[in-house]
Amino acid sequence: MKLQFYNTLTSVKEAFEPEDKNKVKIYSCGPTVYNYPHIGNLRSFMFVDTLRRTLKLLGYGLNQTMNITDIDDKIIRDSITENTTVEKFTQKWIDIFFEDLQTLKIEKVENYPRATETIPDMLRMIETLENNQLTYQKDGNIYFSIGKFHEYGSLSKLDVTGIKSGARYDADEYEKDDVRDFALWKSPKQEDEKAWESKFGKGRPGWHLECSAMIRKIYQSGIDIHTGGIDLIFPHHENEIAQSRGAYPQDHFVKYWLHCEHLLVEGQKMSKSLGNFYTLRDVIAQGYDPLSIRYLLLSFHYRTKLNFSFSRLEESKKAIAKLQNTLDRVLELTNFQVEKGLPKGYAREGYNKFLEGLCDDLNVPKSLGEIFEFIKKVNNSLDSKSLSEGELLDITSYFHNVNSLLQVLSFEKSLLDSEIEALIDKRNQARKDKNFKLSDEIRDDLLKKGIKLEDSKTGVKWKRI
Ligand SMILES: [Zn+2]
Repeated sequence: MKLQFYNTLTSVKEAFEPEDKNKVKIYSCGPTVYNYPHIGNLRSFMFVDTLRRTLKLLGYGLNQTMNITDIDDKIIRDSITENTTVEKFTQKWIDIFFEDLQTLKIEKVENYPRATETIPDMLRMIETLENNQLTYQKDGNIYFSIGKFHEYGSLSKLDVTGIKSGARYDADEYEKDDVRDFALWKSPKQEDEKAWESKFGKGRPGWHLECSAMIRKIYQSGIDIHTGGIDLIFPHHENEIAQSRGAYPQDHFVKYWLHCEHLLVEGQKMSKSLGNFYTLRDVIAQGYDPLSIRYLLLSFHYRTKLNFSFSRLEESKKAIAKLQNTLDRVLELTNFQVEKGLPKGYAREGYNKFLEGLCDDLNVPKSLGEIFEFIKKVNNSLDSKSLSEGELLDITSYFHNVNSLLQVLSFEKSLLDSEIEALIDKRNQARKDKNFKLSDEIRDDLLKKGIKLEDSKTGVKWKRI
């Protein structure tokens, strides 16, 4: 089975050949921490999770990095408005970012460098670019001169012949297709603005620089895969190439560029003015299960626009229930024993088909189709009671492996209402006896099984989550 990815740089699907199969080097552009992530942001993080879990399923070892932008124009603006320090302001949003990842069962990557911890590396890169005569100074800022870098435009296929020489941008974001020199180092606009001392004067780095500097710091040379949303192709990724190749022309930078499409809500672009702007917390507050949200974000191919809708969340919930139902039937018969190795017999062909979808540029919709074909077969076999013990265990291994990607199935025996109530009585008694260790254990065990307890004045209430 050959793993292939669509490479934005070459505009074709290519066989994936990393430098070291046991340590695939991946860099993913991460969040700017100044607000709640919205579901469009979370789609791109889910895409990173899909890539990561697929590579692991296929036996690759990973060394993946996601940057945390904890300094930029918006962060400075909002921390001043809130009358707090940049550090305190960003820490709150970093915590929220990780909470949201956990809610969606998005696996953590190996490295989360922060921009503010990478300043010396960024300054070193500016110096190297200066030595290579690719920079100039203007109004206290240092700019990259894109007219002197001949590969500029190679990723976005932008025609840069008409660029205005000396036209500059020092904001962190700018209009699409407007090609201008970008800031590497920016002098403070206000007295109290967060800034660092440097040989280029007091200032802070431009946003584009952090990704190039972090890649150099962590991997010393180039990487196998770089990911991001399609809106980052230009200018952000184009500028990353300019910085990294401009500083180290002897080294390769990125072999495969993978970009994830936008998310739409009910067919429209998500925006605050249209009233269709949702964070993860907004959707959960409307009563939707985080796992239904995960399933929906996962179920679209990353290179197609994802049309988010509440009716689709209902469909996702049903799809998960269908899978869980078949799994529960099998688990009843294996007495909840689960085989964790690879499927070898009954489920092997179905499992290979599931992997084939993933190998074809992470075609999750195809893989999900194969899963539903497989459970149809399993349900028929269960109906006719024709499965041997070995075959049943093989099916549990199928579910165990596909769930390494899906993360929506439970292999625990679900508790009956009467069993939950008996445990709540036991916990009440433990609390009366001041045995808080036991009462906390019972609460935590129930939570792991999807039962949430809420203490209220009228007693303990519980719900399935
Ligand atoms: Zn980046």
